[in-house]
Amino acid sequence: MRTVILTMTFLLTLIQTFGQAEEPKLKISPLTDNFYIYTTYNTYEGSKIPANGMYVVTNEGVILFDTPWDTTQFQPLLDSIKLKHNKNVKICIATHWHSDRTEGLEYYKKQGIKTYTTKQTDELSKKNSKKRAEYLIEKDTIFNIEQYSFETYYPGQGHTEDNIVIWFDKEKILYGGCLIKGADAENLGYLGDGNVIEYETTLKNVQKKYPDPKYIIVSHHDWNNIKSLKHSIKLAKKIKRKNYR
Ligand SMILES: [Zn+2]
Repeated sequence: MRTVILTMTFLLTLIQTFGQAEEPKLKISPLTDNFYIYTTYNTYEGSKIPANGMYVVTNEGVILFDTPWDTTQFQPLLDSIKLKHNKNVKICIATHWHSDRTEGLEYYKKQGIKTYTTKQTDELSKKNSKKRAEYLIEKDTIFNIEQYSFETYYPGQGHTEDNIVIWFDKEKILYGGCLIKGADAENLGYLGDGNVIEYETTLKNVQKKYPDPKYIIVSHHDWNNIKSLKHSIKLAKKIKRKNYR
């Protein structure tokens, strides 16, 4: 009997261990060359939602776009980057004020990382008691960091009032954050802080400015499908019509 119980306990432990192994709290996937997508998870209205961010490994250090949503993963992300690339994160830029983008800003500042948001994001973060960055971007800005160059672009209101996108011109990578939804998304997600009338125009501004991206990174869906922006425009058009009625 004792052996049976022991075996059962052992099996249960095994199942638990494997169960956990199947669902890591932090996932890092290569995108291209020195670009990586990291994913953490959180529960929203009862279902587990992934949140993607991106990082780029430069000669001297790592540039992080947005922070993990899962607060237990701020340090594990830094540790994983250090282990994988033997480099430290130097800069972190968050693309709008919601927690799935900004939650780690103050933690990262304490680790000596230069944290950035736009001025508009900072005002909304302050108003909504969210974590804030140390440095503020006043207008669309080109960053030249080591061998990489990218720009921030504010296309107008959509997912939130302040959402920006990031563009790497040489690599043709469009980092869309929560503004752009996946190609298989059924809707535009949470719109409580968004602008359903402007959303379509805002997305079209992004499309006009960056007509030929090679990659489009989205926050909460599969980022491997380049049709995400086109599909999001369709969704935004639909919701605009509904709201005009
Ligand atoms: Zn989001």
